[in-house]
Amino acid sequence: MKPERCYVCGNATLEVLDSRAARCPQCDLLINLETAPVDYSGLGNATDPGKQHWRRINSQRRLMIIKPHLRDHRALVDIGCGSGQMLEAAARHLSLCFGFDANPTLIRDIRQSANLRVECGHFAAERLPEDIRSAAKVFTLSHVIEHVAEPNALVTQVAAAMRAGDLLYIEVPLHTGQAFRTQGYDWSLWYHEHLCLYSPTALAALAASSGLATAAAGTRIFARGSHSTKTWLRLFFRQPLRSLKILLTKPRALSLADVMLGDYGFVVLRKP
Ligand SMILES: [Zn+2]
Repeated sequence: MKPERCYVCGNATLEVLDSRAARCPQCDLLINLETAPVDYSGLGNATDPGKQHWRRINSQRRLMIIKPHLRDHRALVDIGCGSGQMLEAAARHLSLCFGFDANPTLIRDIRQSANLRVECGHFAAERLPEDIRSAAKVFTLSHVIEHVAEPNALVTQVAAAMRAGDLLYIEVPLHTGQAFRTQGYDWSLWYHEHLCLYSPTALAALAASSGLATAAAGTRIFARGSHSTKTWLRLFFRQPLRSLKILLTKPRALSLADVMLGDYGFVVLRKP
């Protein structure tokens, strides 16, 4: 069903593309017209061992994007922690880690298999333990806000729980990346639980409305392809000049494929 307004910028004049999607001409958000509520009844593919391995590496690479921005931060709060790989990756660098996830099956599984502190439910600042609340911290919202019809409200709620200097990392799937451009509606991240796919412009609009300062913004892809030599060679020889320019200017934490394929967008925000 078509929403009355764009989830991100509030624009009421949405352009219907076909029976499956509408686009916001103002922020280039791609809105899914065939959505259904999130299913919390099972584990999904969260415990598939092959996927777990890559998810772990994916979380480590994501943390490398955040790491140059860390100062005296001691805590990480992962909102929508899923099967806990981001918390595991963060625990190597930050002494206090805490996760929220609304899926009770996942939370039960994390509590049984890993020594991680998690809370079942949506984010609420008052549910943070006291040691975390008083520490300088990083909040992460990775692949969460595309599930939410009021992303500004969620980001504002997180921003209110931040102290000066605290960080917020947001990562979303983009419709402007290679995966959606080549696979379209067949891409696995275009599905009924995602209300929309972002564009870099929509993500920047969300960041701008948060009242937080943008410390970094960019694109990345899932870990499995990001450091592949075959992909590197293919990209480099297809666009050698552009590749060279990217290699000279990109942050160390990102690969050539992260920048050029850009399936996911991220921002690192800091509370002034
Ligand atoms: Zn919009």
